[in-house]
Amino acid sequence: MAIVPRFDQLPIPPANAAEYNTVCQFCNVGCGYKVYVWPVDESGDVAATTNAFKLDLSKPQPALAGQSYTETMHSITVGKDGRQYHVVIVPAMNSPINQGNYSYRGGANALTVWSLDRGTQDRLTYPLLRVGDQFQAITWQDALALIAGVIKGIRDRDKNDDNIAVKCYDHGGSGAGFEDNYGAGKLFFDALSVKHIAIHNRPAYNSEVWGSRERGVHELNYDYSDARLADTVVLWGANSYETATILYTQHILANIQGATVAEKRKAFDQGEPAEPGYLIVIDPRKTSSYTVAETVASNQVLLLQPNFGTDYILAHAIARVVWERSYYDLDYLKARTDMKLFEEYKQKNLKLDKKYADFMAEAERITGVPKAKIEQAADWIAKPKAGKFKRRTLTIYEKGIIWNMKNYDQVAALVQLAVLTHNIGRPGTGCGRQGGHQEGYVRPPAPTPGSIYNGGPPVNVDKFLIGGKGKFYWVIANDPYLSTPNNQIFRKRIHERTTKLTKALGESGEAATIQGRIDAILKALYSDPDALFMVVQDIYMTETARDAHLILPAAGWGEANDTSINCNSRLLRLYEKFMDPPGEAKPDWEIFKLVGEEIAKLYRAAKQNDVAAKFEFGKNWKTDEDVFLAGAQEFKDNQVSEEDEATLEAENYKGVTYAFLKQKGQEGIRTPVRRDPKTKNLVGTLRRYTSKFGTADGKFKWYATDNWEGYPAEVAKYLDGTKAKEYPFWVTTGRIQHLWQSTYHDRHLPEREIANPLPYAEINPDDAKKLNIQSGDLIEIYNEEGNAIYMAYVTDAVKPGTIFMVMYHWRGTSNSLVSGYTDSKTTIPWYKGTRANIRKVGNPPTFIQLTASTLQQNKFN
Ligand code: SF4
Repeated sequence: MAIVPRFDQLPIPPANAAEYNTVCQFCNVGCGYKVYVWPVDESGDVAATTNAFKLDLSKPQPALAGQSYTETMHSITVGKDGRQYHVVIVPAMNSPINQGNYSYRGGANALTVWSLDRGTQDRLTYPLLRVGDQFQAITWQDALALIAGVIKGIRDRDKNDDNIAVKCYDHGGSGAGFEDNYGAGKLFFDALSVKHIAIHNRPAYNSEVWGSRERGVHELNYDYSDARLADTVVLWGANSYETATILYTQHILANIQGATVAEKRKAFDQGEPAEPGYLIVIDPRKTSSYTVAETVASNQVLLLQPNFGTDYILAHAIARVVWERSYYDLDYLKARTDMKLFEEYKQKNLKLDKKYADFMAEAERITGVPKAKIEQAADWIAKPKAGKFKRRTLTIYEKGIIWNMKNYDQVAALVQLAVLTHNIGRPGTGCGRQGGHQEGYVRPPAPTPGSIYNGGPPVNVDKFLIGGKGKFYWVIANDPYLSTPNNQIFRKRIHERTTKLTKALGESGEAATIQGRIDAILKALYSDPDALFMVVQDIYMTETARDAHLILPAAGWGEANDTSINCNSRLLRLYEKFMDPPGEAKPDWEIFKLVGEEIAKLYRAAKQNDVAAKFEFGKNWKTDEDVFLAGAQEFKDNQVSEEDEATLEAENYKGVTYAFLKQKGQEGIRTPVRRDPKTKNLVGTLRRYTSKFGTADGKFKWYATDNWEGYPAEVAKYLDGTKAKEYPFWVTTGRIQHLWQSTYHDRHLPEREIANPLPYAEINPDDAKKLNIQSGDLIEIYNEEGNAIYMAYVTDAVKPGTIFMVMYHWRGTSNSLVSGYTDSKTTIPWYKGTRANIRKVGNPPTFIQLTASTLQQNKFN
């Protein structure tokens, strides 16, 4: 018997099925999808005229080129009218990004649909109020009154909003696009003035790429077509095969296999060589992005495995080779960059007063990368092609860089190398983030500082809360009990603090009315400064939500109209609503609007009409599009020439409407959108910085980075004396293709649970042999920060002395071991590096032997 239900035949969408355009809810690539919805008692047929695909289904679809439709692309949901509906979500053939292709994640979009006969029935459907150890369903009216009453009570006592702490997404992804982001921004930054706010995956309100932006380069600057045109693609701390799968399989792999040479000939200058591309992977691990490419084009793939935290030194070393070998264009540098600052960069980072041999010897010692490989990388990145044509190199970086030690300097070093080699702003070039999920940032200005060079660093809200500060903690669409660094300390303290309030409310006798409860909460919060009131707003019960006092049910992907851009092209599209949210769940923007209105009522009753007016920011928001259009007002006037696109915000969509996006469909429009001064038409921006950089004078700024200073105290403590022996392993962490973000959906899908019963950790065969560990064994990984029980996966993907831990799983997280260190310039954590030891706990449990997919792979003696 199959472990999950299988079908002999899939339901066929009838010709009159409702049809919607959408974009995959998961990763940064933003593949296009089509959705078909129709009542369960109706059916299409195989004849092309009778089904919504308009295909003759009596014949097999062409292999790898036809319309895909599998069991994981179908589900059944229930509408607000009480009827059951088939929902079919298939990859869009007309999407320029995926052209009908899909990944393991995206191919299962339909499995995440709210359905009464699947694990997604666990969705939150009503507001829930904690009474003692129980969650009771309450009305939205009572939930809103409770939040509004507590917020106003805190403001009245404090005369500021400093005791209100928030943890919220700050850009799109997974159903929270421009609309929800704008709603959050209006409530927290315009109506309230919340300083203690942290972004969903980090402890502060900050950019992960200030090191690039402050030099004039926004992190989303290339197009997916550049991955097809590049002579060389560099994946630096980005494991695209796992985390940007279609970008990798459809575009990067096609390039190195030579499938895009004809496109190169068209795009390149006359006479310029156009050949299959090269791939450089830079990562402490031999990632799947390397091994997959190696199997198809081994001579065109290079792997550099720098020591932990040393990537920025490696980038400077490659830059020094570029300088020594004159792989740069001085005229370009003079015309487009700040040459005064360039002298500082040359002196501090390229260290031209140091002999080349000495410089390279030092780089080799620090990074652990042999000089010959550094020089080879420099050749592949910048050595002019035959005929003296400049090479075209696209550098894609991600969490291996931005969640590395010294976030700011790591990002800065990469973008400097790209500008030195003129690898930004030309077809086939760019230097930007791969991205984690899609993006949709539009907000009023935040009352928080920038990097250390712009009033920062921002406040570490985790430490603020751990230290007993703050009285109200609102967590929106994220699960900090899993996702925050040093998380065992964090969750222990939040549990303690929220429990103090719960106990106080119980001791005084649970209040019978909402007003009574507001009064009791405020009394408890101001009698015990350590007590904390917590609200969680999400689509499922999360680990954090179990300690909340109030839980608000939010709508998810496809349950409201939504807009976002993808990361690899800034492609803005409309994600159409195709089903109702379950129960009384609401879109986030509507929840923020309703909370604002409820607070406004209290201020009006107190005759403070001017304050009330600020909280009525959403009074004209009737539809998703109303919020989208209101958000556009935050952007600059976009009537600028193509040459001046660098002056615009990366996500500027001023002038775009839902009707415009509907008409564009999967083609979308690339932000920043401009209104062409001559034609007055809206036009997208294919790739950025072709004429100017995003600085006041349009010139790139060469602010030099720090020198190598060794490891921060939080990790250096493990490298000396007895601790070096006690914690002999370097630990790196990361995502895998089949577990998305905090696994909020995956843990509810039987297919995922069975295939991934436990989080796993990669361990080198040499280390495994010494510790008598085999794949599937249970191991405890531990250090002074915390511990986690993982399943061993023995593989040479990691070097001896290094282990790789899957980041999030419902049975454990690498964040239990990650230190509380953050970059002093940006407050970004080092999620990807610490030290630990391993203890074998036992042999694989039977249920794991039967099902865990990783046991089938890589057998070592
Ligand atoms: S690559 Fe990303 S966007 Fe595309 S189908 Fe997979 S998860 Fe979705």
